Amino acid sequence: MSLKPQDFFRPEILKATAYSVAAAEGRIKLDAMENPYPWPESLVEGWLNYLSQARPNRYPDPEASALKAALRRYANLPKDAEVLLGNGSDEIIQIVLLALAGHPGATVLAPEPSFVMYRQVAQWLGVNFVGVPLNRDFSLDLDAMLANIARHRPKIVFLAYPNNPTGNLFDASAVLTLIERTPGLVIVDEAYAPFAQVSFTDRLGQFPNLLVMQTLSKLGLAGLRLGFLAGPREWLEQFNKLRLPYNINVLTQLSAEFALTHLEVFQQQTARIRAERAALFTELASLPQVQAFPSAANFILFRVKEADRVFNGLKSQGVLIKNLNPQGGLLQGCLRVTVGTPAENQAFLRALRAALGFAG
Ligand code: PMP
Repeated sequence: MSLKPQDFFRPEILKATAYSVAAAEGRIKLDAMENPYPWPESLVEGWLNYLSQARPNRYPDPEASALKAALRRYANLPKDAEVLLGNGSDEIIQIVLLALAGHPGATVLAPEPSFVMYRQVAQWLGVNFVGVPLNRDFSLDLDAMLANIARHRPKIVFLAYPNNPTGNLFDASAVLTLIERTPGLVIVDEAYAPFAQVSFTDRLGQFPNLLVMQTLSKLGLAGLRLGFLAGPREWLEQFNKLRLPYNINVLTQLSAEFALTHLEVFQQQTARIRAERAALFTELASLPQVQAFPSAANFILFRVKEADRVFNGLKSQGVLIKNLNPQGGLLQGCLRVTVGTPAENQAFLRALRAALGFAG
C-alpha cells in the first residue's frame, strides 16, 4: 500500500497533538477536576438495584426522555427550553461545531486561555477559530471581544463560566453585552456550575441566541459521561440532527436518573469541596513565591517561578496536577490543582512546600 498517513490526513490533523491524559499510576490525582468523594455504600446498593432494569440487548431510549426530565428539574430549565444530551459536554462541543464544518467562512470565537476543546474541535473540523486574549487578570477584554465579533461575525462564541483553566467568573454584565452584540449564537459553558452557584439558565428565552451547556462530570459523575445543552427549540432541533442516535447508553441514562433522585448526596459533596477550596486558597496564597488566583470552580490556578520544575517535583512526590506552563502566554508559570479531599489537599501542600524548597 502506497498511501501514507501524511497524504491521508489534513495538515491541521497532522499538526495536532492528541488530548493526552497523564497516567495517575497510584498518585494523588488532582489534575482533572473530578469530585474526590466516592458514592456512599448505601447509595451504591440502591444504584445497582436500579440498574437491574437495564436491558443491554436493546438499544437505549434514543430520546432519553426520563433522564431529560430529571435534568430539567436539576438545572431548573425554563419550560420552553429544549435539551440536547451529549456523551459529556465534549461531545456537545463536537455536535455544535459539526454544524459549521464545510460552511465556508464560518468562524468560532472564544476568549483565550479557555477550555482547549473549543479550538481543538474547530481545528479537526476545519472550522476557522479566533481566540481573543483575556486581560492579564483573566477578565474578559470586552473591547477586544466586541471588535473581533464585529470583524469576524462568528457563528458561535463560547464563554466558559467559570472559565477553565483560570477559574474566574467573567463579569456577568460583560457576558450579557456579548450576547446582545453577537450576531451568532453564544454558548455559555457552565461545566463548573455546582461550584459557582450562578447560572445563565434563567436568561434562556430572554435572548434568542443564548444556549447554556452543563455537565454532570464535576458534580461527581465524570465516569458516566453526560453533558447537556439547553436553548431555543428551533436551534436545538437542528443540532439534534447531528447527534448520533443512541449517544447516551443505557447504563448512563439509568445511573444519572438514579443519581439525580439523590441529588442531596452530591450537593453535600460539592459544598465540602467549596469549603475546601477556600481553605486551600488561603494556604496557597500565604506561600511566598506563589500567586494564587481566586476561583469559582473546583480547581485553583496558581503561578510559581520554574513551574516545570515544581510540577515535576510534585509528580515525583506522588501528586499529579496540571502543568499549564507549556501553553505559554498568560499561562506562563501557571499550574492548576483540583480541589481534593482535605487529606489530598494537605498532601499536595506538603509536596508543594518541598518542591518550592521550604522545609517542613
Ligand atoms: N467545558 C469545560 C469548561 C471544561 O472544563 C470541561 C472539562 N474539563 C468540559 C466542558 C467537558 O466536560 P465533560 O466532557 O466531562 O462534560
